[in-house]
Amino acid sequence: MTEVRVRFPPSPTGYLHIGGARTALYNWLYARKHHGKLILRIEDTDAERSTRESIDGILDGLNWLGLDWDEGPYFQTDFADEHIKAARQLLENGQAYKCFCTREELDAKRKKALAAKQDIKYDGTCRHLTPAEIAEKEKQNIPYVIRFKVPHKDGAVVYEDKVLGDIKRAYSDIEDFVIVRSNGKPLYLLCNVVDDIRDRITHIIRGQDHMSNTTRQVLLYQAFNAPVPVFAHMPLTLDLKKAKISKRSHGEIVAVQFYREHGFIPWALCNFLVQLGWSTNDDREIFSREELIEAFSLERINKSNSIFNYRKGDPKFFTDPKAINMNGHYLRTMPINEIGEMVKKELQGEGIWDDAYDNDKKEWYLATLDLIRDRFFTLKDFTSQGRAYFADDFTVEPKALKKNLLKHPELEEWLPMLGERFASLKNFTKDEAERVAREFATEMNVKPGIPINGSRAVITGRIKGPSMFEVFEVIGRERVVSRLREAGKYFK
Ligand code: GLU
Repeated sequence: MTEVRVRFPPSPTGYLHIGGARTALYNWLYARKHHGKLILRIEDTDAERSTRESIDGILDGLNWLGLDWDEGPYFQTDFADEHIKAARQLLENGQAYKCFCTREELDAKRKKALAAKQDIKYDGTCRHLTPAEIAEKEKQNIPYVIRFKVPHKDGAVVYEDKVLGDIKRAYSDIEDFVIVRSNGKPLYLLCNVVDDIRDRITHIIRGQDHMSNTTRQVLLYQAFNAPVPVFAHMPLTLDLKKAKISKRSHGEIVAVQFYREHGFIPWALCNFLVQLGWSTNDDREIFSREELIEAFSLERINKSNSIFNYRKGDPKFFTDPKAINMNGHYLRTMPINEIGEMVKKELQGEGIWDDAYDNDKKEWYLATLDLIRDRFFTLKDFTSQGRAYFADDFTVEPKALKKNLLKHPELEEWLPMLGERFASLKNFTKDEAERVAREFATEMNVKPGIPINGSRAVITGRIKGPSMFEVFEVIGRERVVSRLREAGKYFK
């Protein structure tokens, strides 16, 4: 059996988009599943729009997602000579021809055809030029493009599409398309095929937006006598209004970097992206890497467009809620050591990392993460909602301040009193803390929730959280007592 060889060929004209990441992911999964190779090729032929910054961003994004490649990155511009040679070869073999028609001539013909409701394809004027006519035009230095000679016969181009089934397009529907511009530059359409032949690509997994190229490209494979790869055209990703998601209309939310900056776990994002256009035949939505590699198949890629469920300006969800929920799922279920490494970077970024969390406070650090992660959705929650566990400079969220402190003015005096009782305990454990807090409430003749929730507000800054008795123990006597002693400041 021939080795599976797939490729991810981004054009480096912007950042890594979630659509591009999804394409990379599908190719990566297919390569890994079949023990094949993933080739990374940077299609930088458009010199004006390609930038080094974009290349770096793409590589960085793929690395962050954990999508490793086996060959490359190759750069399309390094093979410019081959692209030209390939065009010359088609010309010499009579599979392509020089077209001297001017833009004005072509426009006029097109207009006329449109008005007469006729076919607007190129009419093949230059296809039949004699060698003498060609020589004459060249002598006059008339610029020319090179057009591919589409077979003039009955029949059709047929190729195998693993998603959509066999795709067929009559030769008569395809015009003699340009493969080299009048400035001598080969078109992307040709370069892409020449590179895929050289890289021995067996499967091309890309978006349906490339389908208009595919029929023409299949003709090129045939002209070069090269095996035609198997295609799998992936559905487009649309927004709720059925518009293609793009930077222009959706902003940074379509960039992989956005998810990194918003505390996503790379694998959680992959798991979300894979399901924008693919599913299993059961209801499974959560996969480990190994499970996904095992489950993935081209045949189960959806034919119809997928929906990126994002409402601009929705205050609750900064992106598709499914993505956020999936991230929350991985955050809560991944081995705590792995979460520990990721949260370390967040704490370092905030300047509140303590090296002891890697040494003698490691046990405390991991137990704390495990306690608080239950309610979290992104890694950012550890430094926002969870800040009070790692730093003293946290703020009390307004609803906690209002409902659990200011509504009970007596707490101004009570919380410091409770602090003193904790200070004088022999052992500060969660059971002891609970006993003291409950006794205190009984003595003051209020429900235990009043001093307990008040403590939560001044100790964690939050209205909700894990059992407060566990929190007392985890935050530790010293910080608990000092925060309770200072509770008065919130009432000023
Ligand atoms: N460079 C093309 C793009 O970024 C790749 C097209 C292909 O997969 O053949 O859209």
